[in-house]
Amino acid sequence: MVRRYLVAGNWKMHKGVSETTAFLEQLLAAKRPRNVDVVVCPPYISLPAAAMLLTRSGIGLGAQNVHWESSGAFTGEISAPMLRDLEVGWVIVGHSERRALFGETDETAAKRARRAQDEELTVIFCLGETLEEREAGATMDVLRRQAGVLGDLDPAKLVVAYEPIWAIGTGRTATPAQAQEAHAFLRAELAGQLGQEAANTVRILYGGSVKPANAAELFSQPDVDGGLIGGASLDVPSFSAIIRAAAHLAAGESS
Ligand code: PEP
Repeated sequence: MVRRYLVAGNWKMHKGVSETTAFLEQLLAAKRPRNVDVVVCPPYISLPAAAMLLTRSGIGLGAQNVHWESSGAFTGEISAPMLRDLEVGWVIVGHSERRALFGETDETAAKRARRAQDEELTVIFCLGETLEEREAGATMDVLRRQAGVLGDLDPAKLVVAYEPIWAIGTGRTATPAQAQEAHAFLRAELAGQLGQEAANTVRILYGGSVKPANAAELFSQPDVDGGLIGGASLDVPSFSAIIRAAAHLAAGESS
């Protein structure tokens, strides 16, 4: 089965409304390949402006987190129905920065993901090992534990992002072989929980210092279905170059 490439930009705590508007106007003005799915995930505050600009553009809009309740006394949180109200279609869940800095656990990430899917959002579920875990030979154990919650999710509204923590924002990228090994392992875990047919439809993105110079090599691996891009998604030329790398591979596969 052919999975469409997906390139998603995680802007983290970058770009308020005016910078978001300038970025998206520039992205929309450029010629864009149609054989790759593209999503941008600005900060919450910039979602309304982004939603207006992206209407009928073919570019998806995602949030960077979501709460598991619909409403209530949860100061500072945003719910899935609120995101739907803004026509947000995607949400990142379980990012390593949320796990490391804001107390996210496998359980809370799973709750967020389930609630988001109930509201018809597509979840980009992040997981990945630390450097210490990799050096201790524990990578696959960690991935198995983190992926253990995916069996409760709807594969039709699920994207998995393998993001080795040692590669995020560090300039150090997993080798294509390391990425493929982890992705194949995750697909086998998905198959164990959801069945092989469903597992074959779930896109598994690689994230961690993807740049125009390394995107094609990473995306050419059989189980790497695109990327979750942090730093290199903040600038239109580099984000566009990564999208073009995926488009080029997709064109090669379909010819
Ligand atoms: C991320 O945080 O999701 C990420 C992949 O960041 P970077 O591309 O900057 O390593």
